[in-house]
Amino acid sequence: MIVTENKEMICENLKRSSDGELCFADMPLSPLAEKYGTPLYLYDEARVRHNCRVYLDAVREGFGEDARVMYASKAASFKQLYRIIKEEGLGVDVVSCGEIYTAHLAGFPLQNAYFHSNNKTDDDIDFAISHGVGCFVVDNAEELFAIDKIAAKHGIRQKIMLRITPGIDPHTYAAVATGKVDSKFGSAIETGQAKAITSLALTFDNLELTGFHCHVGSQIFDAEVYLATSKVMLGFVNDMERELGFICRDLDIGGGLGVRYIESQPTLDIKATVLKVGEEMKKEVARLGIALPRISLEPGRSIVADAGLTLYTVGTVKRIPGYKTYVSVDGGMTDNPRFALYGSPYTILPVFDDESIPRESCSVVGRCCESGDILQENVPMPTDIERGDLLACLTTGAYHYSMASNYNRIPRPPVVMLKDGESYVAVKRESLEDIVGLDV
Ligand SMILES: *Cc1c(COP(=O)(O)O)cnc(C)c1O
Repeated sequence: MIVTENKEMICENLKRSSDGELCFADMPLSPLAEKYGTPLYLYDEARVRHNCRVYLDAVREGFGEDARVMYASKAASFKQLYRIIKEEGLGVDVVSCGEIYTAHLAGFPLQNAYFHSNNKTDDDIDFAISHGVGCFVVDNAEELFAIDKIAAKHGIRQKIMLRITPGIDPHTYAAVATGKVDSKFGSAIETGQAKAITSLALTFDNLELTGFHCHVGSQIFDAEVYLATSKVMLGFVNDMERELGFICRDLDIGGGLGVRYIESQPTLDIKATVLKVGEEMKKEVARLGIALPRISLEPGRSIVADAGLTLYTVGTVKRIPGYKTYVSVDGGMTDNPRFALYGSPYTILPVFDDESIPRESCSVVGRCCESGDILQENVPMPTDIERGDLLACLTTGAYHYSMASNYNRIPRPPVVMLKDGESYVAVKRESLEDIVGLDV
């Protein structure tokens, strides 16, 4: 595993001031809570830009100057983020009309977008073509017919890539015969469906097949997964060239690089990982005697996760003697459903802390009428924690705002960006009027 050590804080953009206050992007957190209220999503703009640059430098060095980074915008999607991604020179992945529309309104050049989804409706396809989305990542054969028909109506030839299932299990780090072939996404190499769809895709007048795509999983820390995946994919590229005469121009090997949520997880060295994959891919194409296609990566989480932090205010603190202590906050599964969905680990810290106060293990819970509304279990909290204290949940830039809901008719928190010691609103706090806005 390629990791760097950072024992003090799990993210580089966090520190504690001498008076014990937590600072994010060099800004103390309590004045931000006061100014914008809680719960509050904060983003460190410099960190987003830094992560974009690390990726872009790495792919250019690892795969060649034409290599691309497509930010998987399902991780966090709002106009200002598309503007930043555009300025940094990345492309984007979109998966819905909502994401396409947001990117469009932000002035994002949609020719630099890939349109994913395992089930694109005819309306989605029409909307994406109307907005000039550069490339469709086609999941299945039915979709080929639908896109061809709608592209014909628009009088265009739509660029497409095919989503292929390489049969890699990201948790065992190995290519396996059957594992992951049963995915709801893509066409499997193992079953012959990948070859069949490639052959079929070449028969449409209004579709231009440029290459292949895969994405094997998420929160991956081991470069071996990408080495195994790219080897299988290059083998497939080679087979399609020999068997069908199809020259693959674009190969996307997906996203999924892991980020550090808790101390026991490593910090992945993105650059070293990408360079290693690049080196092995170059060796593999030389061995196979084919050209290296233009490579793209599509990270989501690792672009934005450590650029985000959520601030909460503590409400009820409930001690059940002999059982447990609950610390309730003014947010919960509505702004962070990830513990409820997959038991995701998080680091939650008091904004003001005095290390001399003893700790007790607490469950940090939300305010929803749902016992699964838990942000984290077994969180060490100072024993004097009380109503009105501020808590920070770290590494919340990915899959938080984008997964937020209005369950219990709770308005979603605002998104506030931090830049050069200043703050600005990127998404406003929802009001009660917004909550009832569509009711008739
Ligand atoms: C979710 C997803 C990604 C991004 O995954 P991360 O773990 O956020 O990096 C990339 N590509 C596809 C097709 C995805 O579904």
